[in-house]
Amino acid sequence: MELIPDRRLRALRTALRFWFDAGAAGSAPPAGLEPSRRIDWLRVAPFVALHLTCLAAFWTGTSSVAIAIAAALYALRMFAITAFYHRYCSHRAFAVSRTVQFLFALLAASAGQRGPLWWASHHRHHHLHADRPGDAHSAHLDGFLWSHVGWFMARENFAARRELVADLARYPELRFLDRFDVLVPLGLAALLYAVGELLAVHAPDLSVTGPQLLVWGFCISTVALCHATFTINSLAHRFGTRRYATTDNSRNNLWLALLTLGEGWHNNHHHFPGSARQGFRWYELDFTYYLLRILAHLRLVSNLRDVPATVLDARPARPAGPSRPSKEAA
Ligand SMILES: [Zn+2]
Ligand SMILES: [Zn+2]
Repeated sequence: MELIPDRRLRALRTALRFWFDAGAAGSAPPAGLEPSRRIDWLRVAPFVALHLTCLAAFWTGTSSVAIAIAAALYALRMFAITAFYHRYCSHRAFAVSRTVQFLFALLAASAGQRGPLWWASHHRHHHLHADRPGDAHSAHLDGFLWSHVGWFMARENFAARRELVADLARYPELRFLDRFDVLVPLGLAALLYAVGELLAVHAPDLSVTGPQLLVWGFCISTVALCHATFTINSLAHRFGTRRYATTDNSRNNLWLALLTLGEGWHNNHHHFPGSARQGFRWYELDFTYYLLRILAHLRLVSNLRDVPATVLDARPARPAGPSRPSKEAA
């Protein structure tokens, strides 16, 4: 007798497969799981669990070492996301060797924001449709929650938009990181646990344990990193000032720039996305760009693209953002 699994069992099996093999999302989805705006809670259960695990800090306690490691991993991985997934992979704002490209990809992949092809392809798509019908995460059209977290939890956005990243998909190592996007974050989590256990044995005065380093260094640091990154899709299209009359609703926001090492100058960025720097004025802090300049000095990156003077001096034709298009137009 053939055992026919019920719909829930099939959905669970599919979710389990996608947790470990995101490339499976590129194949034809099973019946009932077709791309749609519906949030697939089973598929995103690890992301939800990551948030809940942060509560374990009440059980593990904390230490100055755990907080320092959490902060350092936040800053390092934020730099990898903004410099590499965003400015390099999405916009080709500078050049790197293939080895440096892979090392940056590895570091950015540890941020738990899926793989380089997925990240860059959805971001390129955002620039093509920003705040107009078709934009996958428009805060202007779909509100805060959808633009912050809803869009990437929906079935229609699980697969990379491969047609937009043919240049990146040429590299098998990037395709591997993209397909098995859970491997690097899991590896970092395991490494932190092991380091914490070693410190507990060999340096007990530090009051560090494996579970404590796992919770602070990975879970809390990664959750903070994710939500800081997501504010650029949600808050940076709602709150701040507009220097340039872009066709979207992007804003410049100092607080978001500080939180994301320079990504908060989002109106500047939408005005000229190909630039390696997003703080266009000397007083617009852009730590990612400063670090890229240091890496250029060390010859690890090259050809940092700048903003042409004519683009820099363009003035807005109108002070506010675009009028709100109707959803029906989609
Ligand atoms: Zn944007
Ligand atoms: Zn961009």
